[in-house]
Amino acid sequence: MLNHAVLLLNQSYEPLTVCNVKRAITLIYLGKAEMVEKNSGWLHSVSMQVPIPSVIRLGRQIKVPRTRILLNRKNLIIRDNHTCQYCGKKTSPLTIDHVIPKHYGGKDTWENLVVACQACNHRKANRTPEQAGMTLIRKPQKPHYFFYLQKIIGVKDQQWKPYLFIKD
Ligand SMILES: [Zn+2]
Repeated sequence: MLNHAVLLLNQSYEPLTVCNVKRAITLIYLGKAEMVEKNSGWLHSVSMQVPIPSVIRLGRQIKVPRTRILLNRKNLIIRDNHTCQYCGKKTSPLTIDHVIPKHYGGKDTWENLVVACQACNHRKANRTPEQAGMTLIRKPQKPHYFFYLQKIIGVKDQQWKPYLFIKD
């Protein structure tokens, strides 16, 4: 129970990160944070009952460096929703394609890497999409920080959704 995930918001209600219940209760106890949403259930100690937090908010705005989202195969596949970015099919195995091929100076960046099925990757070969007559279904971009919270940490609690701008 003490290790359940709690969403930590900045004073501005912007999501910062996720901590555990123990840390959240400590922050509240120290007057550094307030409870915004609570979970069902209580923590019992000898002398008191404490509601279990789900979302807490810092009393003071803090500036924190964003967690860097690692550029790797796994995160590219999550960003592209397991979908080939040329034909739109959800298929496996998926490959990683350099939109602008390396030999044309294409870099290993979020903007130049997409997920492609084997057939599309084979068809495109070492060409640009224009040369191959292929179009991307979506312009590849560096994922927003919310992506990290939504997809990598994941929504561990339904009460987090409004704070992560996810509509039901
Ligand atoms: Zn494809």
